[in-house]
Amino acid sequence: MQHYEILVIGGGPAAISLVKVIGTHFKTGVIRPEDHSLIYCAMPYAIEQLIPVQKTFKRDELVLSAGADLLRDTCSAVDFDAKVVTTLGGEQYSYSKLVVATGAKPVLPPLPGSGLPGVHTFKTEADMLALSAVLEQGATHAAVIGAGAIGIELAQALASRGLETHLVDIATSILPNMADPDMLGGPTEELVKAGIHLHLGHGVAALNGTDRVESIQLTNGEEIHLAQDDCSTSSKTAQTRPLVVFAVGMRPDIDLFRGSTLEMGRQGIIVNGRMETSIPDVYAIGDCVQFSSAITGELQPGKLATNAVPMGKLLAKNLLGGNVEYQGFYNGAATKVGMWYVGSVGLTETQARSRYPVLVGEAELTTTFPIMPEAKAARLKVVVNKETGLLLGAQITSGAPVADKVDQLTMAIQYGIKASDLEFFSYSSQPYQSYYPADNLLIHAIKDLK
Ligand SMILES: Cc1cc2nc3c(=O)[nH]c(=O)nc-3n(C[C@H](O)[C@H](O)[C@H](O)COP(=O)(O)OP(=O)(O)OC[C@H]3O[C@@H](n4cnc5c(N)ncnc54)[C@H](O)[C@@H]3O)c2cc1C
Repeated sequence: MQHYEILVIGGGPAAISLVKVIGTHFKTGVIRPEDHSLIYCAMPYAIEQLIPVQKTFKRDELVLSAGADLLRDTCSAVDFDAKVVTTLGGEQYSYSKLVVATGAKPVLPPLPGSGLPGVHTFKTEADMLALSAVLEQGATHAAVIGAGAIGIELAQALASRGLETHLVDIATSILPNMADPDMLGGPTEELVKAGIHLHLGHGVAALNGTDRVESIQLTNGEEIHLAQDDCSTSSKTAQTRPLVVFAVGMRPDIDLFRGSTLEMGRQGIIVNGRMETSIPDVYAIGDCVQFSSAITGELQPGKLATNAVPMGKLLAKNLLGGNVEYQGFYNGAATKVGMWYVGSVGLTETQARSRYPVLVGEAELTTTFPIMPEAKAARLKVVVNKETGLLLGAQITSGAPVADKVDQLTMAIQYGIKASDLEFFSYSSQPYQSYYPADNLLIHAIKDLK
C-alpha cells in the first residue's frame, strides 16, 4: 500500500494552495476525481462565450510541479483508526496526516419537478458542459433561480446568448447577501436593460413539465412559461429546449463522513483556527468546513475561493512548523452587473442593524476626476459599530472595478482600524484613476457617519 505523509482528498483551490506551499517538504498525494481543476469564477464567462470553456481548466502542473502526486480517483471511505483511505478505483493509501478538502456541492432543492430534464445546477465541469450543450442545441428560454453573484453572472451570460432569461429570487432585491437594496438601483436597471425578466420576492414552489421542464410555479401562484404556447407540448419543448439553473447556494460535500466520528455541523466539518478536526492528524480546509464570521463571531456561510485559499496556505504553514490561527470569514466579494461593478465586505446595513447599534455613512464621487471623459459614478456605504467605532461592513457600486477598494476596506476591518482613524488616511490621486485630491470616497463616507 502506498504511504503518504500528507494525503489530501480533493483538488480544488484549498488543496492546490496547500500543496503549493508545502512543496517537497513532505511526500504528498492529492486525490481528485475530475479531469481538470476549474477556475470556477470564470465559468459564467465561458457560458457567455467570452472565453473558451478550456480556459477555465487549471493546469495539473500546479499540483505536479509542487512535487505532489495527483491520484485521479474518488475517495470512497476513510478508516480514521487504521489511517487508510479507500478509493472507488479500488486503491488503498495509508497516511500520516489527512487533509479533507472536498469542497461544496450546489443545492438543488427537493421541489416537485426538480428532477425533470432541463433542470441544472452550476458548479462542476460536467455542469458547464451540459449547459453549453443545451445552448448549442438551440435553447431559447431559460430561468436562473437565485439572484446572488453566480446567478446574476449566469443570467447575464444566458441573456447575452439571446435566450429569453428569467431571474427568480425569494428576496425582494438582487444580491441580498451582498448589498442593501438602496445601493442596487443601477445594477438592477442594467439587468432589465439586458432583457432579463426579474421575479423577486417569491420562491419557487414547483417545476412543471412532462418530458422536460416547461414552466416554473412561484409561491405567489405566478407561473413562468419557458416554452411557446402555440404548439403541442413535445414539439414546443423540442423547439425551445427550456432550461432552469439553480444557483441558490452550496452545501458542504461531507456525506462521505456521515456515521463516522468526524464532528460536523450544518455548514461543514468542525475545525479550530489551526484547521484541526475532532480527529487527531485529520485537518479540513475550504468549502467543506464550518467556520464563523471574524466580525460577529457567529457561524456564517463563507463558501468562497478567497476563504478556501488562505485556509490551505495557513494549514501548510502550520504543517511546516508554524503557528497561525484562522480568524474567520470577512467575505469580501465582487461581481459585475452590466456597466456596474458591485462589491462588499462584512455585514450589510440590514444585517448590522439587527445585531448592533450602528452608524452609517455614504458617499458618491466619480471614478476619475469628474472633468475627465471616462468619469463614472462611484458610491460607497460604510457601516460602523456605534459602540466600538469599528467597521462592520461596506458596499460599493461603481462604474470602475471595485475589488481593490473592497480589499482596502477588508484590511481596515481585519486589522481593527477605527472609523475615526480613517478620516485622515493617506491616499493617492490621478485624473484617470481617482477623484480629485480634494476628496476620497472612503474619507467622504466616514465623514458622513450618522
Ligand atoms: C460559478 C462559480 C463562480 C464562483 N465565483 C467565485 C468568485 O468570483 N470568487 C470566489 O472567491 N469564489 C467563487 N466561487 C466559489 C469558489 O469556487 C469555491 O469557494 C472554491 O472552489 C472552494 O474551494 P475548495 O477547494 O474548498 O472546494 P472545491 O473547489 O469544491 O473542490 C473540492 C474538490 O474535492 C473533490 N472531492 C469531493 N469529494 C471527493 C471525494 N470523495 N474524493 C476525492 N475528491 C473529492 C471535488 O471533486 C473537488 O475536486 C465560485 C463558484 C462557482 C461555482
